[in-house]
Amino acid sequence: MAFVPSTSTGYEHDRRTWLVVHPKGVVGRLDGDRLVFPTDEEVSALGVATTEAYRLGTLDGTDVVTAPWPDPSRRVPAPFEPHGLRSLAAFLDGDLFGVVGRAMHTCDWLTTSRFCGRCGAATARVDGERCVVCPSCALRVYPRISPAIITLVRKGDLALLASNAKFPGVFYSTLAGFADIGESLEETLVREVKEETGVSVANVRYFGSQPWPFPNSLMIGFTAEWVGGEIAIDPTEISDAKWFAADALPMIPPPLSIARKLIDAWIADVTRR
Ligand SMILES: [Zn+2]
Repeated sequence: MAFVPSTSTGYEHDRRTWLVVHPKGVVGRLDGDRLVFPTDEEVSALGVATTEAYRLGTLDGTDVVTAPWPDPSRRVPAPFEPHGLRSLAAFLDGDLFGVVGRAMHTCDWLTTSRFCGRCGAATARVDGERCVVCPSCALRVYPRISPAIITLVRKGDLALLASNAKFPGVFYSTLAGFADIGESLEETLVREVKEETGVSVANVRYFGSQPWPFPNSLMIGFTAEWVGGEIAIDPTEISDAKWFAADALPMIPPPLSIARKLIDAWIADVTRR
């Protein structure tokens, strides 16, 4: 069965799927190669305040409920432990993987909007809408979704891939960057590619998109074509960038990411001809 999102706070089922979000990942315990989430009783025993619980929707006859881990400095007691989203791909099907991403993004929003940014009063949740409201000045705060472009730049049959300065040499991936105020996504793309690699691009085409809850991005994927410039990297952003041929690739990102889908689509295109 598929996950059905909901903004209603009322429970529809007797059973709950608890997604407790610690800064290092979602809290669960491994049972063989299965990830098991805590029960109602275990959630209470873990010290999670059920008043903090936020209902995301329904999945397989359960209400999916998320709550932030109460104290980031407190360890998660065994047998439970936090599991980062990237490591969860092996344990969860695509549906539940997406739901865990929603939980992480939701808890980031809940923990950063407890108080009104305009007047400082404690906010209250709104039933029927993904929103909190300030009872004092009526400011409404919706989850922040930060749009970022991600692009595979082509030069003939070659693709421009870069290694991130934060993870130098781990793998080479497509270029990405956040939209700035007042920019179209096309303008973001041209600016980011120029800033990070010194290369000028054109013929920007939409590819697809993917929520990326680290902590609140939406990655919007494009392809683009080189029109000029030699590679000159910005070392604060990336450690290396090169033009790669499809038959001589470095380590690339794992499946499930839109970066990998962009790379796979390019490989399929150049090897077809
Ligand atoms: Zn206010």
